[in-house]
Amino acid sequence: MNHVVVVGAGLSGVRSVEALRARGFGGRITLIGQERHRPYDRPPLSKSVLLGDADSSFVDSDLAALEVDFWPGVAAKALREGAVETTEGELGYDGLVIATGAEPILLPGDGPQHVLRTLDDSLELRARLVPGARVAVIGAGWIGAEVATAARRAGCAVTVVEAGPAPLTHAVGAELGARTQHWYEGIDLRLDTMVASVEEGGVALVGGGFVDAHVVVTGIGVRPAVEWLADADLDLHNGVVTDEHLRTSLPNVVAVGDCAAWWSRRFGTRLRVEHWDTALGAPEVAAATLLGEEAVYDPVPYFWSEQFGHMVQYAGHHPAGERLVYRGEATGKWSACWLAGDDTLAAVLAVDRPRDLVQGRRIIEAGHRLDTERLVDPDVPLRDC
Ligand code: FAD
Repeated sequence: MNHVVVVGAGLSGVRSVEALRARGFGGRITLIGQERHRPYDRPPLSKSVLLGDADSSFVDSDLAALEVDFWPGVAAKALREGAVETTEGELGYDGLVIATGAEPILLPGDGPQHVLRTLDDSLELRARLVPGARVAVIGAGWIGAEVATAARRAGCAVTVVEAGPAPLTHAVGAELGARTQHWYEGIDLRLDTMVASVEEGGVALVGGGFVDAHVVVTGIGVRPAVEWLADADLDLHNGVVTDEHLRTSLPNVVAVGDCAAWWSRRFGTRLRVEHWDTALGAPEVAAATLLGEEAVYDPVPYFWSEQFGHMVQYAGHHPAGERLVYRGEATGKWSACWLAGDDTLAAVLAVDRPRDLVQGRRIIEAGHRLDTERLVDPDVPLRDC
């Protein structure tokens, strides 16, 4: 293999370059990224950057030392076996890493709507979060909650419009999400409310209401950025379909990060996980696979969010869990455990209880059974349950 092309210069793209070099690949590597920036981390975009505590979040990879040919501001437009068509012409490859991530879903309507995916999005939105500004955040998911946190701290008048009966309904279910509702103090939180469209001056609601806003932020989720692969002879289903080695249906083509739907041996299902930890870890396996080594990607997925002064951490895959058990009152530090039918831990969500997260992740990895009577006592360490 002489030439590896990596499409997408986000975290999973640059980590793929690093992993190839760390495994001794000495051939040519080209990294194509449609953004004009060098690779950066996205989690700070809705936290320190939006809060004004940082102006950027570039990853500290040394692209020169990695001897990678970096093409910023260049988009891949199509793929055929052995070549990527880009906005700068065709590029042949021997190995290909697809790392194009995900892109925000927009609402209908002609009014201006902000999204939060890129560094430019974050800086643009930050400039609009000024005291007294009326800000409508659509969606009380992870991103919506973090944007509402920043907007409230900036002194804006914040309305959050959520289609579900509680914050985080889509991510963790309404019952658990309801335990975070009191964090929205001082925010006009409209639950069970559907947006019809974004208009000049605010948001039109299904059923006739209107939320006046100077700034509208749409945080209703993302879709895998795989449109450029539509005509490729490649299995696509909720992203790029891969096996447990992150191999796609085309030879010498692997996929990583937010755009990859990989087969999870551990959970016996296909997972596409839009989390930083996946973008960090999957490239090791993808690089090994591309270089003909035997490697399996089978993590316990991990995620965190910082909202309303709380650190929320999650590990596991809760659709594998059948029962939800809480440790601690919703007004303090607490965690929630999803148990499978055999009392093994499927997933854990910890609010300001990092030990529960760390121990829970290990328990999930080991497949241990838990004693539910001990589990409900937040004073009993999770590892002793
Ligand atoms: P991306 O980071 O999306 O990178 C893909 C890159 O490919 C992009 O630069 C894109 O422009 C480029 N690209 C797309 N299409 C093409 C094309 N056709 N040609 C060339 N280039 C292309 N996760 C957590 O675990 N915790 C958090 O707290 C957290 N906070 C987040 C906050 C924000 C605001 C966002 C947006 C995400 C957050 N995430 C968080 C998720 C995490 O950042 C993502 O899972 C991670 O960025 C995925 O990395 P990736 O490299 O797969 O994709």
